[in-house]
Amino acid sequence: MNSRNEKIETIIAYGDDEAAIAQASDILRKGGLVAFPTETVYGLGADALNADASAKIYAAKGRPSDNPLIVHIADTEAVYELASNVPQKAVMLMEAFWPGPLTIILNKKKIVPDGTTGGLDTVAIRMPSHPVAMKLIKESGVYIAAPSANTSGRPSPTLAEHVIEDMNGRIDMILDGGAVGIGIESTIVDLTGEIPTILRPGYITKKMLEDIIGEVMIDKAIIEPDPNLRPKAPGMKYTHYAPKGEVTIVEYEPADMKEDYQFSAIDVKTENAIDDEIKTNNQKVIDKINALVAEKNAQGFKTAVIATKDNAPYYKCDSVLVVGEADKGVTISANLYAILRKCDTIGAEYIYSEALNQNELSGAIMNRLLKAAGHRVIKVH
Ligand code: AMP
Ligand code: MG
Repeated sequence: MNSRNEKIETIIAYGDDEAAIAQASDILRKGGLVAFPTETVYGLGADALNADASAKIYAAKGRPSDNPLIVHIADTEAVYELASNVPQKAVMLMEAFWPGPLTIILNKKKIVPDGTTGGLDTVAIRMPSHPVAMKLIKESGVYIAAPSANTSGRPSPTLAEHVIEDMNGRIDMILDGGAVGIGIESTIVDLTGEIPTILRPGYITKKMLEDIIGEVMIDKAIIEPDPNLRPKAPGMKYTHYAPKGEVTIVEYEPADMKEDYQFSAIDVKTENAIDDEIKTNNQKVIDKINALVAEKNAQGFKTAVIATKDNAPYYKCDSVLVVGEADKGVTISANLYAILRKCDTIGAEYIYSEALNQNELSGAIMNRLLKAAGHRVIKVH
């Protein structure tokens, strides 16, 4: 339906409408493309077992063909149809976190076309918890291959409006389910090796996984971005989540962390002293960002600041985008992509963000923010 990038008419409908689900199911069965809400981000779905259908996803997104798709299922039996050698730890994770924001990587069976797995002999599988996603998988009767429903490289969509921005005229249908809950993509865990390995951090943290299955590793390439290390999730090597303007993170770092540690070990600080210190360090970040904004504004550039709630009033910038309270990971993750897209809407050319690393989801959030910033970080001491 959109193999040569010709403009097609996209149907936009509410996902809680039975007739819309029936129409979307029909489109999927016929090999078309339907965007739908999940609890993480909006997905762009096609029949996972139909190589021609999943090829259309790559065309619509402009996605590199070596970047495999996640297969969405609605019952655990599907896992045994799609994958071979399902280890006990996979079963334990499925029981603990499905339906939910966890993707598992297993050895694939022949039934899954190479076009869906980017030529890999493994397959990524997830059971989403969003009611519209669930209904669509069940009613269509197909396993749905679905990456995020954005143009490749742009921030993932967390509202149907974001999908319309990127995909209108390129896909058959968009199911609108309002704002998604989590706002960043699923945690991906590879279970094909000796020790389960996180290939992409997400809402389900390392600790949550370890509580269920014991030792879990994190793919080195996501901790230490090093051009010589190839991430095991092919998608993680591409620039991602980035607005058009240049994003820079400004982060406080103690001048000499070792000295600071020794000092606090012998001199136990009072709570007030610690509070004062945090305020001072925060102020250093605010001052640095204000200086950078002033410099760019003087050169005639449009700027934006991505700020946590308490700091927001202290920025001197036309566009201060509040991402949430510093210690509320779930709010920040729900808002981050919409804010990165807003930077484009307002035409920001230089964007400065606080480090969003003081919350329970900081591993996943900083992974996305660092990618959006192309790893540009200014440290203040
Ligand atoms: P998206 O659905 O847009 O969030 O992208 C899916 C992510 O899952 C990408 O980063 C892929 O590289 C990763 N992925 C999908 N299948 C596999 C697989 N078989 N092995 C490793 N990573 C995978
Ligand atoms: Mg994506």
